[in-house]
Parts: sequence; C-alpha cells; structure tokens
Amino acid sequence: MNWISNYVRPKINSLFSRREVPENLWTKCDECGTMLFHRELSDNQNVCTNCNHHMPIAPRARFAALFDGGIFSEIDVPQPVADPLHFRDQKKYPDRMRAAQKSTGEAEAMLVAQGEIGGAPIVAAAQDFRFMGGSMGMYVGNAIIAAATRAVELGRPLILFSAAGGARMQEGILSLMQMPRTTVAVEMLKEAGLPYIVVLTHPTTGGVTASYAMLGDVQIAEPNALICFAGPRVIEQTIREKLPEGFQRAEYLLDHGMLDRVTARTELREELITVVRMLMGLPPAVRGSLPAPEPIPAAPAPAKDVAAPQTDEPKA
Ligand SMILES: [Zn+2]
Repeated sequence: MNWISNYVRPKINSLFSRREVPENLWTKCDECGTMLFHRELSDNQNVCTNCNHHMPIAPRARFAALFDGGIFSEIDVPQPVADPLHFRDQKKYPDRMRAAQKSTGEAEAMLVAQGEIGGAPIVAAAQDFRFMGGSMGMYVGNAIIAAATRAVELGRPLILFSAAGGARMQEGILSLMQMPRTTVAVEMLKEAGLPYIVVLTHPTTGGVTASYAMLGDVQIAEPNALICFAGPRVIEQTIREKLPEGFQRAEYLLDHGMLDRVTARTELREELITVVRMLMGLPPAVRGSLPAPEPIPAAPAPAKDVAAPQTDEPKA
C-alpha cells in the first residue's frame, strides 16, 4: 500500500490500454485473402478492391450508396404478431430475434425506403442476409406489401434487392403464406403499370426465389451470386450426378436465359437509373449538376428618379 501501487500502476495501465486498436479495422476477403482497410472497403460498397468479390452489404449502406446524395426516408412496415407458434429449437424464437436485432441494429430482415435515383423517384426494399439469413417471415411479407402499396400510391417503380436463405422456419406455414401474399403485391404493381425491378444478390434461395424475387420486369444479379430454389448440394445428392461448374451462379443463369443482366455493385446505381428512366418514359439523366442560370432581366429597367445609393466599399 503505497503511492506506487495506488497511483503509478493504474496510470501506467491506463496509458497502455488506451493504445488498443479497434479489432474491426481490417476485413479479410473470403475469396482472395487480401486484408482490406474498413474505409477502403466501405467506400467500394463492400466489394474487394483486389479480386472484385462481392461481400454482403447492409440495406442501410446499400441505400446510402443508391439514393441521390445518400438521402432516403424509411417507410413504416406494420409489425406482425410476435412468435405465433411459440417456436423453439436450440433457442426460443424471441431470443433469436433479439440477438439478430442486437447484432444488426435493425428491427427486421427488410428495409423499405423512398427517395430519388438520378432525379427519378423510386421506392426500394432491401433484404438483410445478416438478420437470420434474411429469412422471409411475416414481417418481410408486410414490408413488400408496404413497399408495393406506397409505389402504387405515388406512381413510382419498385426496386427490390433480394438476399435470403428462404422462408423463416420459426413461423412455419405463416412464412410460406408470404409467397402468395408477395406475389399479389407484385401483381398490384403490374396492374398499375409500374415497373418492378429485382436485383438478386448472394444468396437468393428457397421460397424467396419461388415468389417475389423471380417476378421482376427486369432481373439483374450481382456477379457470382448463388440464385436457386434448392441448393446445388441437395440436387447433386438427389440426382446423383455431378453438376456443371458455376451451376446456379449469376453468370450461368444469365447464359441460360434466367436473368437479364449481371452487374457489378459499383455500377448498379448508374444501371438502375438508366433502366428506371427508360421504363418511366423520362429523358436521360443529367450527368453532373450545373448551377442554375442567373435570371435574365426581361426588359431594361425604367429610369429612376432616385440616384443609386452610395456604397462605402472602395472600387477595385
Ligand atoms: Zn478479394
């Protein structure tokens, strides 16, 4: 008990602990193993700058990169009944929900927003694979209906970014019922003559592929995204045959007529602007914004009786 242990040691300890570097400054690319600095990676929308591997991106970050100036307003989604089946596997369903909400900072697996891209107003919805595998539960169904309803109200196209492992098993049959519900939502858009554009991201599988993710007027996919109903392993085991290379990947599906485009995430915004403006009959987007022209005086000002006020400023 002296001043060395009571005063000096805590001081020294605090000096060293302050030097600790946050752990998540660097991310390792799953594909090529390159260590990527977090800012460099987020500036490139989570696409590896070395090998162009597309890593998962949160809906909020995607919207920030998609909308003009990163400005969008969220659309409220009606909250469904929580845990209707009192489902429990290794964990209770409400516990799983809370854990997912804590790790993602989002309320559920889909984010709906409205805003403008290249000056064209749109409604957009994006699925969050980090939130329980982006699984399609009642909330996701409600989100798509809310997005389609708003799009019809405002007469805007709907752009949907899919990413899901399929239906949410914790909601059983209620999650499967989202397939017809979302199909009806897409039908609403078609009846209103509004474009529905789907961007399929890695991975889009199961019941999502069997409903709203495949009903777009334009089907775009991100490079190397896995898009399927049943996964390659299941098919291989069922038919007992070796599947061709790249089977069910975006490029393979494009070659076989399942998709319209495969577009890199960094070029997606420009492409969506072009597609939306074309389908909505708008003129091509203005590249770069020039300052508004100065107003031209309509006629020479009539002669005034009063002299112009004197200014104190010296003339240059
Ligand atoms: Zn890489």
